[in-house]
Amino acid sequence: MKALMYRGPWEMPVEEIEEPTPAAGKVVVEVEAVGICGSDVHGFTGKSGRRTPGIVMGHEFAGTIGELGPDVEGYAVGDGVVVMPLFTEAPGGDPYPINLSPHRRLTGMNEHGAYAQRVAVRTTQLFPKPAGLSWQRAALCEPMAVTLHAARITPINPMQKVAVVGVGPIGLLAMLAARLKGAGTIIAVDRSAHRLELAEELGADAVINVDETDAAATIREMTDGGVDVAFEAVGLSPTAQLSVEATRNGGNVTWIGNNAPMIELDMQSIVTREMSVRGSYGFDETDFAAAIEALSSGRLNVDPLVEKVAPLDEGPELFRSLAAGENDLVKIILKP
Ligand SMILES: [Zn+2]
Repeated sequence: MKALMYRGPWEMPVEEIEEPTPAAGKVVVEVEAVGICGSDVHGFTGKSGRRTPGIVMGHEFAGTIGELGPDVEGYAVGDGVVVMPLFTEAPGGDPYPINLSPHRRLTGMNEHGAYAQRVAVRTTQLFPKPAGLSWQRAALCEPMAVTLHAARITPINPMQKVAVVGVGPIGLLAMLAARLKGAGTIIAVDRSAHRLELAEELGADAVINVDETDAAATIREMTDGGVDVAFEAVGLSPTAQLSVEATRNGGNVTWIGNNAPMIELDMQSIVTREMSVRGSYGFDETDFAAAIEALSSGRLNVDPLVEKVAPLDEGPELFRSLAAGENDLVKIILKP
């Protein structure tokens, strides 16, 4: 079968690789749609160190069951499924939520993922795809779950003011997740005019281009001292710092961005203003089910995020142009 094989920094050709076979408790999924994730693009450049050569990436996906492992019950060949890429392999059961488990693993990082025609996954990773959920939206359930999780662990009261720093796919979906939780005014911050336009289309009340103004000062002025809650969806020093500075004394800051391992930050600003800063990583089964419900019910308008749908063969060039910063497409879906 065909797959995008990560061979090393900036090198991920389409290769013919061995077909996956379903072991006990697993099924083979024929991939119908898989989203290109920023973490994969970052991994592709070799800078994040979170992708190892010899791996097929791809963790935002849905498809049709093509083959059942021995003893698999409750599923049939032809069933549509949305796959939760996080899993744990803790011996004797896992007392932790899946995203906090020391044994957590990710399909597409620790084992072959879905930039391929077929992929083997555990039945514990399967969620039935509702009939009303398109393949395209099904591929957005994973990033949606990431942002619903971030919203869930962040205190947001009805009509509180929220800033989202960085409105790539995760930031845009975080806006929608904050809305679901009752956010009032939402301010989107980015340096891409295109992404800020999309943020407006998806319901941001105000957008700020960091290259045109002092974003933290502008937000504090607009909100009388800062937003109640900020989400950071980039993962670099300046954006982490901005997320803190844009938030009022005693406010809540949630970091979803995962990029630079070490960042520089004004610690005094956090201590003397009693800021609560928390990390948010992944999701659990509840968040994943909520994401499927949110997208299949049509409650959230996520379709504008998908700016390109392409076959697997275009993958290598798309990765190259994304990593080189030559294209600003928000979400690309591959159809292997
Ligand atoms: Zn992702």
